Amino acid sequence: MALLENSVGVEDLVLLEPLDEESLLKNLQLRYESREIYTYIGNVLVSVNPYQQLPIYGPEFIAKYQDFTFYELKPHIYALANVAYQSLKFRDQDQCILITGESGAGKTEASKLVMSYVAAVCGKGEQVNSVKEQLLQSNPVLEAFGNAKTIRNNNSSRFGKYMDIEFDFKGSPLGGVITNYLLEKSRVVKQLKGERNFHIFYQLLAGADEQLLKALKLERDRSGYAYLNQEVSRVDQMDDASNFKAVQSAMTVIGFSEEEIRWVLEVTAMVLKLGNVKLSEEFQANGISASGICDGRGVQEIGEMMGLNSEELERALCSRTMETAKEKVVTALSVIQAKYARDALAKNIYSRLFNWIVNRINESIKVGTAEKKKVMGVLDIYGFEILEDNSFEQFVINYCNEKLQQVFIELTLKEEQEEYKREGIPWKNVDFFDNSVICNLIERNQQGILAMLDEECLRPGVVSDSTFLSKLNQLFVKHSHYESKVSQYAQRHYDRTMDLNCFRICHYAGKVTYNVTGFIDKNNDLLFRDLSQAMWKAQHPLLPSLFPEGDPKQASLKRPPTAGSQFKSSVAILMKNLYSKNPNYIRCIKPNEQQQRGQFSSELVATQARYLGLLENVRVRRAGYAFRQAYGLFLQRYRLLSRSTWPHWNGGDREGVEKLFEELSMSSEEVAFGKTKIFIRSPKTLFYLEEQRRLRI
Ligand code: ADP
Ligand code: MG
Repeated sequence: MALLENSVGVEDLVLLEPLDEESLLKNLQLRYESREIYTYIGNVLVSVNPYQQLPIYGPEFIAKYQDFTFYELKPHIYALANVAYQSLKFRDQDQCILITGESGAGKTEASKLVMSYVAAVCGKGEQVNSVKEQLLQSNPVLEAFGNAKTIRNNNSSRFGKYMDIEFDFKGSPLGGVITNYLLEKSRVVKQLKGERNFHIFYQLLAGADEQLLKALKLERDRSGYAYLNQEVSRVDQMDDASNFKAVQSAMTVIGFSEEEIRWVLEVTAMVLKLGNVKLSEEFQANGISASGICDGRGVQEIGEMMGLNSEELERALCSRTMETAKEKVVTALSVIQAKYARDALAKNIYSRLFNWIVNRINESIKVGTAEKKKVMGVLDIYGFEILEDNSFEQFVINYCNEKLQQVFIELTLKEEQEEYKREGIPWKNVDFFDNSVICNLIERNQQGILAMLDEECLRPGVVSDSTFLSKLNQLFVKHSHYESKVSQYAQRHYDRTMDLNCFRICHYAGKVTYNVTGFIDKNNDLLFRDLSQAMWKAQHPLLPSLFPEGDPKQASLKRPPTAGSQFKSSVAILMKNLYSKNPNYIRCIKPNEQQQRGQFSSELVATQARYLGLLENVRVRRAGYAFRQAYGLFLQRYRLLSRSTWPHWNGGDREGVEKLFEELSMSSEEVAFGKTKIFIRSPKTLFYLEEQRRLRI
């Protein structure tokens, strides 16, 4: 055990002296530069992305960490996975592993390491192995359809994921359930400079054989596709063609039939081809401008693939039907509107296909309700985001992180409290920042920002992003965590950095300014009814099921929930799920923006440490007792400090530790004797012990 200060810093930040941001960063840097990417804060694991393959994974290491208790070996993700799995198996406690951090920090890799660790240590046998394979193979499939190259990460997950892995009472895996959050569907039709569309499009074009390409009516040359950003097509060290084979075989392992795989690829191809539908201005007989399709063959082909008359498809793309009580009025769309409709259709087909794939995987891995299960949940979700321009997406992501922080504080404190109770040690309350005031501001029924947004979306009459904003400004002018131009005027405080169409929220992790442009549209998330009805009518075996609202019989049903309220309810379900489990935290940190090994930018890490609340975490952890250890392990290490316990001690472990402290005349304020563990209040005491020990050896 090298918990204490040495050439690679402390292994547990709880032992930092002095405890401030500077020394925390120094410590992480020191460790990173010695290729020690893992550091603890008590039972929380901090992980800094190494951007290189380190020789610390694989069967040999798995075996090592399986046989030791948490603090005996160097900090490692396997140690955390081991604790979680052992508590699930032997203490019958459902677990969750919460992985947070910004894009490129290593969350997805961490979740895969946890899964592979658990897969390696849990149960054996043919049946069990096939379940494990299915669970592991869900990763390449979801990554193909849900990941993309971005500026920050060549393999960036563009959706949030929560996976419950379910075990039987012996700890063998039975199956699982995957929940996905908010796929970034805007990427389907447009990518930023230097970024790519979802991997599957490139994989398909590079990896499909001639016969498949022909059947999907695709050309191998990706430069012909408008939805594929042309300046970046290849990603370093990523072989799209062989990944395509891997995805197909993963789908087969999971249990997709050959037909189903074919359907999925067909729908993917339709999306790609939709991007090439060119729309132009046409003039109707009455002289009014309308849109028309220039490339008839493209639409013809898409229609054939969809199993839909191409005229019908064209009509759905270029016009809109308004129904009143008495009559139906068909109006032509302008070119801008028609392009919007085309892109909306592509985005909707793709994101619904993604949901379908997740559901299909779930069908394969689902466990009968009658079976008694133990559960390990793994959450891999985007961390707190502050971009230059923050919109609806950042707003909901940051809301989710605000909720996760709430879970973190409550469960960490609760866990501390419970450990003290288990060990029979009196508990003193800890002061901490309670962020429920911010959660309320966002989510409160009928009064929070999300409710206001919904109200605005459903209100008849002229609504716009700016009417929404004025409503917020009016309502929250005095709120301590809300700022806008209006509230600034009211307080005679003027901030040039804020625009008129923005509001600002003081999140626990910092202030974020949101631009309201597009909030209403994104929250509404509406697809013209003509399009959903056309999709529903298509003969394709998969496509119509993605558009149940296109069924004319459903048309009169109330409108689908808004994007914001859907997100809110899925977050609520997630929270309920997490609260019922014992949490294990992995905090991922990105050391530099260049995806380079060996580089550590203190400034960048400092920002993340703040968002992740690392210092706050250490403080909470230290508010009670900074250090705790089982009597046996503790005595083994320090017994040489006392004449009564060295060289021989025949009594019990606890008595030995008592004897030791008696001899060192340790203040009784400083230590507490639990049922199985010794608790030490301040790190200084531990440093002192360690110093004494060093002098003796
Ligand atoms: P996130 O999911 O947080 O956006 P990823 O897990 O996709 O980030 O990590 C981004 C990249 O960083 C990976 O593709 C991989 O190249 C590298 N990486 C992350 N974690 C590790 C690790 N433990 N060892 C080696 N490389 C890693
Ligand atoms: Mg990821």
